Amino acid sequence: MPVGPLETESQFLKGIGPKLYPLASKIGLKTVQDVLFNFPRRYEDRRHLPKLKDVRGGEVVTIRGVIKDIETRPLRGGKVILRAVISDGTGMVALTWFNQPWVKKQLEGHEGEVLAFGELKEGKNWRLEMSSPEFELIGEGDDAEAFARITPVYRLTEGLPQKSLRRAAGDAIAKYLHEIVDPFPAKFLKEHQLIDLRTAVRAIHQPETQKEADEARKRLVFEEFFYLQVVLAQRRQSVHQEHGIAFPIQELIEGKPVILPTAPAETRTRAAVVKKERVPTTLFAETLEADLNRQGLREQIAALFPFKLTDAQQRVVDEIYRDMAEPYPMNRLVQGDVGAGKTAVAACAMLAAVRSGYQCALMAPTEILAEQHAVGLRRVFEPLGISVDFVAGKLKARQRKSTAERAKSGETQIVVGTHALIQDRLDFDRLGFVVIDEQHRFGVLQRAALRDKGLGHPDVLVMTATPIPRTLTMTLYGDLDVSIIDQLPPGRKPIKTHWKRASERDSVYQAVQRLLDEGRQAYFVCPLVSESEKLEAQAAEDLYYRLSHGPFSMRKIGLLHGQMKSDEKESVMEAFRRHELDILVSTTVIEVGVDVPNSTVMVIEDAQRFGLAQLHQLRGRVGRGEHQSYCILIADASTDDGRARLNIMTSTTDGFRIAEADLEIRGPGALAGTMQSGHSGFQLASLVHDAHLLEVARQAAIKLIADDPELTKPDHQGIRERTEEKRSRMALITIS
Ligand code: ADP
Ligand code: MG
Repeated sequence: MPVGPLETESQFLKGIGPKLYPLASKIGLKTVQDVLFNFPRRYEDRRHLPKLKDVRGGEVVTIRGVIKDIETRPLRGGKVILRAVISDGTGMVALTWFNQPWVKKQLEGHEGEVLAFGELKEGKNWRLEMSSPEFELIGEGDDAEAFARITPVYRLTEGLPQKSLRRAAGDAIAKYLHEIVDPFPAKFLKEHQLIDLRTAVRAIHQPETQKEADEARKRLVFEEFFYLQVVLAQRRQSVHQEHGIAFPIQELIEGKPVILPTAPAETRTRAAVVKKERVPTTLFAETLEADLNRQGLREQIAALFPFKLTDAQQRVVDEIYRDMAEPYPMNRLVQGDVGAGKTAVAACAMLAAVRSGYQCALMAPTEILAEQHAVGLRRVFEPLGISVDFVAGKLKARQRKSTAERAKSGETQIVVGTHALIQDRLDFDRLGFVVIDEQHRFGVLQRAALRDKGLGHPDVLVMTATPIPRTLTMTLYGDLDVSIIDQLPPGRKPIKTHWKRASERDSVYQAVQRLLDEGRQAYFVCPLVSESEKLEAQAAEDLYYRLSHGPFSMRKIGLLHGQMKSDEKESVMEAFRRHELDILVSTTVIEVGVDVPNSTVMVIEDAQRFGLAQLHQLRGRVGRGEHQSYCILIADASTDDGRARLNIMTSTTDGFRIAEADLEIRGPGALAGTMQSGHSGFQLASLVHDAHLLEVARQAAIKLIADDPELTKPDHQGIRERTEEKRSRMALITIS
């Protein structure tokens, strides 16, 4: 393969040279291209460095001065501390380094100025200190003119000074900038108000003004997001080419009779492609319970629940219906905070599917939740003559077999279950609609499994309680269409959240007693011990013992943990639902979805051990009815992160804000499941701060792919090549 000029080894650049080349290539700067696309981490505006007399403790600043004094002091354990005092004639600051003897060698004998960047702290006496600052020595060759600029600061590696990296970048720009080919055609740049790649690369390394740096960054961040969004847009487009079911939504809404679909035999086999024509609507033969259908779908829905759908719920139901009417499979994610009423939305969708003559499957992440859904859906659907079955791993073989038979014969219309639904390879007669609740528990890979396990091409609705910020949703689930229920049912009182120390436990218990006296119920969540279900169960039993032999000995208390048999769990839940129990002591098995409106207080022990998303989910178990609800976090938080999490919990109940805060505390890698840190491939882009640009890139990709799905137009060859280059790296995060 011919080697392009940009592939020239970086040893031929000034600043690197043969001597630093081994080090440079070790950190990924092998070629000129690598150097050009190694973007600065930040800038220093050296046009306005503050005078030392004007700086204060707590500020993060760059300062300059000459060395007045250097001393080392031994510390315990053979370590040393180095202090260098610098002065600019107006004031003095001490720079300190722990146990980095090589710094002393560099500073000693340096006559010129030192430049240091870091956070200033008020020292023991009056003096300001900066510990382990980044620093640079200003030598004789550095003229003041070149120095007083907006200066790029690169990721630092020991032995590769900033100055070398800057010179190398400067040399690469001078000699090779014109070799860079922009993958974006001029028209595209103009349309999206982006600067061209050469201008951007020069400006990101050598901005004349902050505005220039911002423009460059905008272009480059856009590009970092863009190719992934192109891949996702292509994915969505290809789903739209598959054959799915065109549900006769309009006919249902108008109350017209519809024809039962005849199920082609191949829908029952594993890898079959479901080929269905639009359901004909004119004939009367085999009309599906015409009586029921004479009432329009909306009227049927109004009779389904004891409440009116919120505007947000109604909007999302309409979005789903629009998808269902299309002849390709629906792939929609519904986000809604805990308590927003996602289940009702799913029920509306399932009603339409059933009325069209299809079966539905609903998959939930835990048995408790699946069972609760089964109970709730039965209450809603059975009066209409629609049957709801339940499958879970722990049911008896005989029960599972009978459900399997009923599913296969088409006798049952809705099957609710855990992932036993997948494992059992349940055969359906006419499966048309699949709901996956609390998606984040299943993860991206299981979504793939569900499609693989012979369910054909039904419409898929994924529901999640939003612990994922929108930016991540679009990165991870960008192949899905997204609906957001951004409104809680009316009359909900915001949950009051309090953070109490362990020493205040007695007063917490008294408050709980008062609520129980008023006829309410309470959850106690035991400390999260470890990943082990056994230890967690043990902790729950301990807490149960402590409460039932102590302050709450007069109350009826139930215990729930993951080690119990599933019928035991269910009977405890049922007793709590029926208010035969006042208190439910539980592990995090109640985290997801449990719905008992009369339970209005949740006490979480050792709350600092839980993650934010988990705390938010737990808290979502209360505040579901008309009464004021409370969440009490008992914690003696010992870490900064722990305190930060608890403070967020007491300051907001907004799931989106909590998710964003979580992202900020933990970093995107930890949140994203299969998306490993560093895997995101983003050098400049931040999932937290660049949400707007991500949206812009997403829209641009959708538009491009609508216009040129395979990227075959000559103008799009650059984009096509880059997308292919990136596709393999993205494999992990785009599996669906
Ligand atoms: P989610 O799954 O989104 O957390 P649920 O579907 O469990 O929420 O609903 C929470 C509670 O709110 C349930 O008790 C449900 O019956 C009730 N609910 C749902 N929609 C409405 C509505 N539009 N008006 C009043 N109550 C509602
Ligand atoms: Mg739910």
